[in-house]
Amino acid sequence: MADSGRVEALARGVRAGERRALARAITLVESSRDEDRPDAEALLAALLPDSGRSIRLGISGVPGVGKSTFIEAFGLHVIGRGHRVAVLAVDPSSKVSGGSILGDKTRMEMLSRHPHAFIRPSPAGRTLGGVARRTREAMLLVEAAGFDVVIVETVGVGQSETTVAEMVDLFLLLLLPGGGDELQGLKKGIVEIADLLLVNKADGDLAPAAKRTAADYRGAVRMLRPSNPPWKPEVEPVSAVTGEGLAAAWGTVERYRTLMDGAGALARRRGAQARSALWTEIESGLLAAFRQDPAIADRIAETERLVTGGRQTPAAAGRDLVGRFLGRKSAG
Ligand code: GDP
Repeated sequence: MADSGRVEALARGVRAGERRALARAITLVESSRDEDRPDAEALLAALLPDSGRSIRLGISGVPGVGKSTFIEAFGLHVIGRGHRVAVLAVDPSSKVSGGSILGDKTRMEMLSRHPHAFIRPSPAGRTLGGVARRTREAMLLVEAAGFDVVIVETVGVGQSETTVAEMVDLFLLLLLPGGGDELQGLKKGIVEIADLLLVNKADGDLAPAAKRTAADYRGAVRMLRPSNPPWKPEVEPVSAVTGEGLAAAWGTVERYRTLMDGAGALARRRGAQARSALWTEIESGLLAAFRQDPAIADRIAETERLVTGGRQTPAAAGRDLVGRFLGRKSAG
């Protein structure tokens, strides 16, 4: 049972934009303790109607491309245009490194001190799915607190870019001047899912190379089938250090939103994302129940041995276990 007094007080604080309440609310939804879950769910349910009114941007790029420098400069620019900016992170490796390497406050000092910004490091978690769910929920909370631009940052680890692209309205990929995908250390398929590609460090000696790289990628993305119609991905040079191109990049985000909103495509994208998150929850919930069922747990090791040794087919063994599980559910 949820503690409704606690939940209502937190919800009020979040709606009023109180930072302390927001921080506590995020800590609550990030909690992995089972006893916190009812309050977390009740809080999210209470705040769901207040969420969703932001533009959600995902930002990715290889380490060293300038993500934190860019987010700081871009965030301050966007705040200057009258917005409130929240920065969240998806970094499933943060547990391994013993602390978050993303959304780290020392990396975005000016932005983190700004009253219209809110920076939250990546939640710790063992699985990308768990980290992603907590980030998705934190996003609802910062929206309810009145942040109308949400930036979800990710480092290029494992599947995290795709996971972030699946929770945002616009996926922005930062590139380095010079070289193609492989030289840049980009994973296959990542360019295909980007809505906006910015070649960073377009300043000083690197400016000509950045412009050339932008032109190359512009040619390359034109050859791709747009992944997010009616939008066609755009490529621009920027400098997070001089600020050159930041205003244009924000202008592109606004144009994107107008076009996609007008076509109903933004609502469709969010709907599809929510549906897919629902199925992820169903799959992980069912799998957890299956693994925790004592009758199944007892048999898993032996079944794995049979399958590994080629004495039973995976299909028959899987069907048998699932059948047992369902039989127990309907019996009990
Ligand atoms: P991240 O690992 O992607 O977060 O990258 P950082 O923001 O930490 O930046 C990596 C390095 O690139 C730092 O030394 C930055 O000062 C530098 N850097 C970032 N943006 C720019 C830029 O626009 N121009 C230049 N010349 N250097 C930059």
